[in-house]
Amino acid sequence: METKYIFVTGGVVSSLGKGIISASLAKLLQSRGFKVTIQKFDPYINVDPGTLNPYEHGECYVTVDGKETDLDLGHYERFTNIRTTRANNITTGRIYQNVIDKERRGDYLGKTVQIIPHITDEIKRNVKHLGIKDGYDFVITEIGGTVGDIESLPFVEAVRQLRWELGKNCICIHLTYVPYIAAAKELKTKPTQHSVKQLQELGIQPDILILRTEHELTADIRRKVAQFCNVSPEAVIQSIDVSSIYEVPLKMQQQKLDEIVLKTTGVPAEEHPSDITGWKNFVERLKCAKETVSIGLVGKYVELPDAYKSITEALMQSAVYNDRKLDLHLFHSEKVNDQNVEEMLKDMDGIIVAPGFGQRGIEGKFAALKYAREHDVPTFGICLGMQCMVIEFARNVLGYQDANSTEMEVNTKHPVIDLMESQKSISNMGGTMRLGEYECRLKEGTKVAEAYGKSLIKERHRHRFEFNGEYREEFEKAGMKCVGENPETGLVEVVEIPTLKWFVGTQYHPEYNSTVLNPNPLFMSFVKAAIANKK
Ligand code: GLN
Repeated sequence: METKYIFVTGGVVSSLGKGIISASLAKLLQSRGFKVTIQKFDPYINVDPGTLNPYEHGECYVTVDGKETDLDLGHYERFTNIRTTRANNITTGRIYQNVIDKERRGDYLGKTVQIIPHITDEIKRNVKHLGIKDGYDFVITEIGGTVGDIESLPFVEAVRQLRWELGKNCICIHLTYVPYIAAAKELKTKPTQHSVKQLQELGIQPDILILRTEHELTADIRRKVAQFCNVSPEAVIQSIDVSSIYEVPLKMQQQKLDEIVLKTTGVPAEEHPSDITGWKNFVERLKCAKETVSIGLVGKYVELPDAYKSITEALMQSAVYNDRKLDLHLFHSEKVNDQNVEEMLKDMDGIIVAPGFGQRGIEGKFAALKYAREHDVPTFGICLGMQCMVIEFARNVLGYQDANSTEMEVNTKHPVIDLMESQKSISNMGGTMRLGEYECRLKEGTKVAEAYGKSLIKERHRHRFEFNGEYREEFEKAGMKCVGENPETGLVEVVEIPTLKWFVGTQYHPEYNSTVLNPNPLFMSFVKAAIANKK
């Protein structure tokens, strides 16, 4: 089958959930046996989101090949189980960088380099590259931002051209918002009409409209929108607020989104029956779970829960597979101290100490870890969380009062956890981050090896600093064991205090690897331990 290209654009306002809709459609097509991938174009000038503060766009998601990407890629992986790569997230900055590099190399043979055709050609090349490279049946491309923004114009123009070139093999889904005016008790379609008109002015007639709404759309509204926007009434689909994003594929399936896509792209739906049982079972279990498990997450970006998206989703998935509702409490690490920590954390069944960068809020993480270690609460330290676990242990058990990390820029006289710059650091546009998937060998007989059910695993990384191996023996003697290491460099990847119920820190980020149908084994093990510890 020739590759079909599906574009998902958004209008009226941002944050309508284009990522979830794209991921849901991918899931539905996948459940009919198609090979699908999803890509995100972000209209900002940053070359990648690696340098963005989490307050800007939420968590930075890391692909196996070590690209720092938009958090929507996390949704794509969690929904579809496919592994994305650097080709799945392209920003305006990257497009321009490629074009300028080509210009400097003389590739344009002296021509004037312009937005049309050079920038748009580069965008088109990136869209088609995915389909051609891995032979996908469907490539879904989500265009970030809202139609009409100056930044997204070159992307929309590239979509217009591709539709012309690819004919039936290319369709456009436009997601808009239908506001409810409480005083008039009415849903209003005017913003949708305007948004579609704007898209049409840019030369694109959407094939399918998905309307985000807080109230059921009536048949009348669907007819009206269809009539004003030149689409058939069944191609006007509602995306109503649901309690879990994982219900969205099922809601889309009920309205035949996948069938309409197949019909529009000329693929006979009846030859590709759908089987979405595994997903349905998950959603069923999610809804049926009554008992809770309370997890406290200690981090410094708690005002914006999106900053910990992959962690909260991984926890939620593991809770569902343990037939529990996740009762997540976020604690601001700047507000936690030795005096109030007990009051704050005493009702938690398990504690997660979050990843992060820099000094701010670090002392609160130490306070939380000291409390958790001394009260034997199941605790999971991720990346900076693991580094804090090590430092807290050095300070309070080994007696190195000035143990620290170079990153903290304080009191680094004593080199105890002078977490050194990673030897294997790779250059990332001038950065020195160790990024992407690396192997880790786990010690047999440990909780971690038991959780994974094997001793050689692969997980993703995003860090600069690491455990200083010189102190390894001392830690082990005092009870904190190094139970996972990189087989090539010996870098400490996992620490554990085996005498406690569950006290594990990982230098890597297992949350990036947790999907709806394949929850991460370490999260599963942690949540189980938290349930066993239930207060
Ligand atoms: N800031 C720490 C480092 O760079 C930890 C990074 C993280 O938590 N992702 O090593």
